[in-house]
Amino acid sequence: MTDSSQQTPAEDETELSSLRKRVAELELALGEHQALESSFRGFMLLRSEGVVRYDGEPKLPIDWPARRQAEFLLDHVVVAECNHAYARLYGLERAEQMVGASMCGNMAGTREEKIARLCDFVRAGYRVADFEILDVDRRGRKMWTSNTIIGVIEKRHLIYAWGLQRDITAEKEKLLTLQQSESEVQRRAEQLAGEVALQKQFAENVLRSIADGVFTIDARHRITSWNPGAEAITGLSGSDVIGRPCGEVLHSDWCDDRPLCDSLGCPADRACATRRPSPRIEVTPSYRDGRKVVMSLSAAPLLDERGEPAGAVCVFRDVSRERELLTSIQRANEAKSLFLANMSHEIRTPMNAILGFSQLLLKDRALGPTQRQHMDTIVRSGQHLLAVINDILDMSKIEAGRVELSVAAFHLRSLVSDMAAIFRLRTNAKGLLFRVEIAENLPFVVRGDGDKLRQIFSNLLGNAIKFTERGHVIWRLRGERVSDGAWRLLVDVEDTGLGIPAADLGRIFDAFFQTAAGVRTGGGAGLGLAISRELVRLMGGTISVDSEPGKGSCFHVAVRLEEGDAALATGIDPARRVVGIRPGQAAFRVLVVGEAGDGPELLVPMLDAVGFETRQVAEQGEVLPVFEEWAAHAVFVDVTARAPRGGAVVERVKASTRGKRTPVVALVGRDNQAERQRAVAAGADDVVGVPLRRPEVFEKLWACLGVEYVYLRSDATGRSGAGGPLTLLSLRDILAAAPAVLTDGLRDATTAGDFDRMLLLIDRITVYEPRAGVALRALADGFEYQQLLDTLPPRGET
Ligand code: ADP
Repeated sequence: MTDSSQQTPAEDETELSSLRKRVAELELALGEHQALESSFRGFMLLRSEGVVRYDGEPKLPIDWPARRQAEFLLDHVVVAECNHAYARLYGLERAEQMVGASMCGNMAGTREEKIARLCDFVRAGYRVADFEILDVDRRGRKMWTSNTIIGVIEKRHLIYAWGLQRDITAEKEKLLTLQQSESEVQRRAEQLAGEVALQKQFAENVLRSIADGVFTIDARHRITSWNPGAEAITGLSGSDVIGRPCGEVLHSDWCDDRPLCDSLGCPADRACATRRPSPRIEVTPSYRDGRKVVMSLSAAPLLDERGEPAGAVCVFRDVSRERELLTSIQRANEAKSLFLANMSHEIRTPMNAILGFSQLLLKDRALGPTQRQHMDTIVRSGQHLLAVINDILDMSKIEAGRVELSVAAFHLRSLVSDMAAIFRLRTNAKGLLFRVEIAENLPFVVRGDGDKLRQIFSNLLGNAIKFTERGHVIWRLRGERVSDGAWRLLVDVEDTGLGIPAADLGRIFDAFFQTAAGVRTGGGAGLGLAISRELVRLMGGTISVDSEPGKGSCFHVAVRLEEGDAALATGIDPARRVVGIRPGQAAFRVLVVGEAGDGPELLVPMLDAVGFETRQVAEQGEVLPVFEEWAAHAVFVDVTARAPRGGAVVERVKASTRGKRTPVVALVGRDNQAERQRAVAAGADDVVGVPLRRPEVFEKLWACLGVEYVYLRSDATGRSGAGGPLTLLSLRDILAAAPAVLTDGLRDATTAGDFDRMLLLIDRITVYEPRAGVALRALADGFEYQQLLDTLPPRGET
């Protein structure tokens, strides 16, 4: 230091000015420092994170052991200053409220836990970034903070420390959830991997243990796996075949570097193209040892993660033995059917003798009552046996594939009317109501096999009557045009009989199947429905049944028929004009109930004109007494709006004993469905629409009474009876015109029971008169010898 008293004034002046300069410099530095400090504090206040300065006295020597330093920090270091954001972080309003609080005052945990955390800070050299601490605010809420703390060290002492703090609770929670879901995903993945492994093991075990051959191929048809089943069938091991094209390995007859193929192409390719398993095919590959094996094979596609085919899995089975068995069964069956079909003639000849002659014997007046009874039994048993034999032969012919459709044009409605008349006799005999419901759209002339159709209907109607003791049998027919020139014929046969148990419904169309009730009722071999089903199939149709035991059954048939040409049709044309009743028949009495209107008023003269006997009674008149006393054969009742009590009349007539056996036809408004339904509900057997149509009226009477008409012939040159209904009477007329040598010959052959000669002569007669030929053939086939003889003109008459 210089002694100022010994200095010269100049020297003093110099020193002073240097001091002034130093002071000015210091002031400047201080100003700068203050400016810096105030801008720092401004920065501190503005920050959204907490900014804090920790300080404590005395200053902490950093050479102390870490734990001691940590304890010092805990006990002596406090918040010296901070911003509002720091105070708010811990739930206080203002920064000043935090000042003086312990540095670790907000930290959660025990003293030891806090010391451990502070030791980390000490060991990091008082410099930590993003140091995560679990804190508790003044309201007791736990929160995670991220801390960046930098200590200021001078002369190996901690002077103070700056800290930056941020609440990271939300981020931490998000992270935690993320970690949790990550671990959940991990757990699920592990579980799935376990399941996949299990399934793989399962699949491997299945593949190892099944007898079927299973192999996989890649997109280039190279074998990638080959199970023991495949080894056993082909005799080739996995190591022989893996990596080779399957076509080469399996040596299929059709394979050309492809897998087992059929004429339609490779099944694996097909499966890949359609993304679906290919249908089973049979192939016959041969092996190097020359063995040929029939294999049933199918393939399914293997798809990659994009759903694209990456290969296929093929399953095959050796079916050589099954094929052999099936072929031999088929051959045996065909031989049996062929034998039975050929036996037809052999069986029918002795039947001819039994039935034909017993019928002739019945005519013998010399027979006593007991003998007559015995003969009757022989005829009935013979007829039953014949029916069963015929069914068996028909079935055999079907099985041998020897049944073909014989298609021709015919009058469908005539066929129905013919059959209705026959079956009505049977329903009448059993006291059943029989109703034929013919829809207006039923075609008149169609092309199809009329005889087979007749056989189907006969079986269904016969069964309905056989299995019904009371109630009704309804035969419903309607047509549906399917295209130009084609019809679908829809037929129901409904009865109120025994019904069929649900368990039997699935087998009812099987050959020889009969329900328990069917067996009890007897009179059949369980073949009728099987034959019907085959015939319906032959016609491209379907047959089904609905039934409830105790309530009844309804059989449904649908077959396809073609539009027919009326000019070529057989059977009578119902639309032809009726001009009279053929002589030689008993009188037909028709009772008409109702007075006014174009129904009853027109009906009576229409019927009178052709020769029916008629009586007309008002609906409120004495209907029943007249009906009973006069013994009417048929009753027409007006039930249209003009005759409000018509329905009640129908009910009364049908309730009487005689009424049950007598056809009652209701006159209803044409196309009036409600009236039609009311009439049917009241018990009417049939309905006819008003305004009346002549052909329809005569057709109904023909169907229910079997009356034979005389027609106004349009073809005057035609032979007698050619267009009329084919009945015994008309047949007799036709045959009267046939050459006597044929009819006499037929008479002789019939009385001699010479079946072959009968058929020969009938064939000859057919050349002259086809319709008579068909009828005679039917009589001969049914062994109706007496009827056949009755139709022949007396010897030498022609
Ligand atoms: P079956 O000659 O015995 O009548 P089907 O093949 O015609 O032979 O009929 C087979 C069996 O189906 C009959 O025995 C009978 O049990 C049952 N069945 C057929 N139709 C009917 C029906 N309408 N009602 C009740 N059962 C029927």
